[in-house]
Amino acid sequence: MNERIAVVTGAAGGIGSATARCLARAGTAVALVDIEAESVTGLAAEITAAGGRALPVRCDVTDPVQVKAMVRTVAREFGGPHILVNNAGILSDSELHLMSRADWDAVHAVHLRGAFLCARAVYRHMARGRWGRILNLSSVSSLGAAGQANYAAAKAGVEGMTRALAVELGPLGITVNAVAPGFIETPLPQGAGGSEGAGGAWSAAAAETAPVRRAGRPEDVAATLAFLAGDEASYITGQTIHVDGGLPLGRLSLDGCGVEN
Ligand code: NAP
Repeated sequence: MNERIAVVTGAAGGIGSATARCLARAGTAVALVDIEAESVTGLAAEITAAGGRALPVRCDVTDPVQVKAMVRTVAREFGGPHILVNNAGILSDSELHLMSRADWDAVHAVHLRGAFLCARAVYRHMARGRWGRILNLSSVSSLGAAGQANYAAAKAGVEGMTRALAVELGPLGITVNAVAPGFIETPLPQGAGGSEGAGGAWSAAAAETAPVRRAGRPEDVAATLAFLAGDEASYITGQTIHVDGGLPLGRLSLDGCGVEN
């Protein structure tokens, strides 16, 4: 993956920072994009000190002007981009009777509009070299989760957009895939107030329910994203890969029907 340039949005967060580190270790230069520039300067210094190349870029992915400017900055400073990881995310959980239009719009703006704007801004750069990878973060919650009508709908939308863009961009040498994590121990679910956000309790429940008997780590997701970003994944497109320890399967199982453990 030498000489490839990646844009990772939400790079200050749990999964974003793990993904940036993982890509950098593989020789990819990474643009660390986040809504707060200061939040990624430490990570940029860490990657640079380890011999990698990293560029902190402030950008609110919901804003088309900022997204265009961000991609221009990356192309000017680093070249590319060849890889986009649409990872920025927020939660605004509540049950339907309490969910405001602002809760709905804010979650859709970051996950769905943000991913669309970033994909639209980078794909021509990828098409020029007839090689590109667009990776979108979905979630196990796209299957439906109480208190997350906004988030589940946005993530289901991300999966639909992934398939549509895979069809459109495949002939240009660009693959488009989604990764759907289960419960991953990061600030996002820990800090939120709804069903996914019951913090430690949710983490413990995930560890108990998932067949692999642990909550996920950011590195679990990062490794999958890095594989999909590489040459060896060139025949995979339009897919959603679940990185969830089998969590939804564990939920379906009947008590007493499993093996002794
Ligand atoms: P995280 O630690 O909260 O990181 C998300 C990052 O995105 C934060 O640095 C956040 O900045 C940034 N961000 C928010 N709005 C933004 C915007 N408009 N423009 C640019 N950056 C913005 O979250 P995470 O757990 O690593 O999640 C990463 C992705 O994985 C998300 O798409 C999430 O939906 C998905 N996911 C996570 C889990 C999980 O269990 N953790 C499960 C399934 C899917 P601020 O902190 O300043 O808001």
